[in-house]
Amino acid sequence: MAEKLTAVKGMNDILPPDSARWEWLEDKVRSLMGRYAYRNIRTPILEHTQLFVRGIGEVTDIVEKEMYSFDDRADKDGKFEQLTMRPENTAGVVRAVTEHNLLYEGGKRLYYMGPMFRRERPQRGRYRQFHQIGAEALGFAGPDVDAELILLAAALWKELGLNDWRLEINSLGQPAERAQHRAELIAHLEKHADLLDEEARRRLHSNPLRILDTKNPAMKAVVESAPQMLDFLGPESLAHFDGLKAILDANGIAWTQNHRLVRGLDYYNLTVFEFVTDRLGAQGTICGGGRYDYLIEQMGGKPAPAVGWALGVERVLDLIKEQGTAVELPVPDAYAIIPEAAAWPVASRALQALRAAGVSVQMHAGSADGMGSMKSQFKKADGSGARFALIFGQAELEAGQVAVKTLRGEKSDAAQGQVLQPLDAIASWAQGLRSQA
Ligand code: ATP
Ligand code: MG
Repeated sequence: MAEKLTAVKGMNDILPPDSARWEWLEDKVRSLMGRYAYRNIRTPILEHTQLFVRGIGEVTDIVEKEMYSFDDRADKDGKFEQLTMRPENTAGVVRAVTEHNLLYEGGKRLYYMGPMFRRERPQRGRYRQFHQIGAEALGFAGPDVDAELILLAAALWKELGLNDWRLEINSLGQPAERAQHRAELIAHLEKHADLLDEEARRRLHSNPLRILDTKNPAMKAVVESAPQMLDFLGPESLAHFDGLKAILDANGIAWTQNHRLVRGLDYYNLTVFEFVTDRLGAQGTICGGGRYDYLIEQMGGKPAPAVGWALGVERVLDLIKEQGTAVELPVPDAYAIIPEAAAWPVASRALQALRAAGVSVQMHAGSADGMGSMKSQFKKADGSGARFALIFGQAELEAGQVAVKTLRGEKSDAAQGQVLQPLDAIASWAQGLRSQA
């Protein structure tokens, strides 16, 4: 026998019935995004490597070691392109917005869903292909939009039945303020250089802010005693931060200020935030985001402010499971029992009419040997979870009818056995079924 093929490490199949949970979540997101007037954007999975190097920053985990990058095949002139499978989608959105000049008539609110790729060590809540849902508001400068995005995420948690989360916020100020903070931060860290781990020492001068969000417990004391960004914020940055807090407070959204919250990516300024839970072990951040007012310009676009977040779909679904939220799995409304192959042409027409009328019907499929015994067909009908069995028996079909048997749910008196329905009115029977539901 040929050797079995398997999926790539850290990349998962999403199978039924679990995939129904994904669809359920995606439906909720689409509906909610619509209510906040965010529109869907879909950018390619492959982009030029340079997009991420410039967009995310050279001294980041992602660009340093997590990207799936490759040289494309050369064209006739021997020229080839360096491509990367997107590790996140903000850079792609900014590229698309700039390339198509989407901000020419004002701000844009956008959302996306899809797979991202990072070569990390696979573990619970951390995969090499994972999925993000993200929302980006481009062209808006005020804290009102930062708040809108956070309220949108909070509304999503509510719709998903999630309450075991907390919101952490921080402000990274503006570049000039950050530069001052950075100088004092480096001085502080240098003073305690003996306590820094290897990665921190390497990042001391290239990306010291990132050291604050270390996961190394041995460095806890050093980072906790480090100078805090908040003390370097000027009046405008403080006003922005206070504006955000006032809106959150007015909406009853509890927040805590986390001075060490800097986010993994380089491009943030002013507001940064994360939704965190303690129920998923080490991978407790379900959603993170912030303002990135300088990214669009840095990527060659006309300067425009922007803010956004991305949530990890796997982690959110894991949390839904942890909380025991029931997600209804799909079952067909009806199962079509077809005793003999001779009934196929007529039965198929009736099924088409039913499905057109919005009824979901699972057809019993035959084989070269025939259709299978009535007993086995009924067993399958029961197993499908359908409420009704439709029996396309030869005698009924000749009388222009189909037998309907109620398998579960409320049974009317007549339905203890089975009820005959005229075939040509099967769609109106279906309509009645819909209106009961
Ligand atoms: P972490 O600190 O957990 O590595 P991050 O800062 O790298 O997260 P972002 O780049 O902000 O994460 O991505 C937003 C969200 O996407 C995260 O909060 C998380 O929920 C999810 N996420 C990020 N990386 C992965 C991954 N490898 N597998 C599954 N989900 C992920
Ligand atoms: Mg990461």
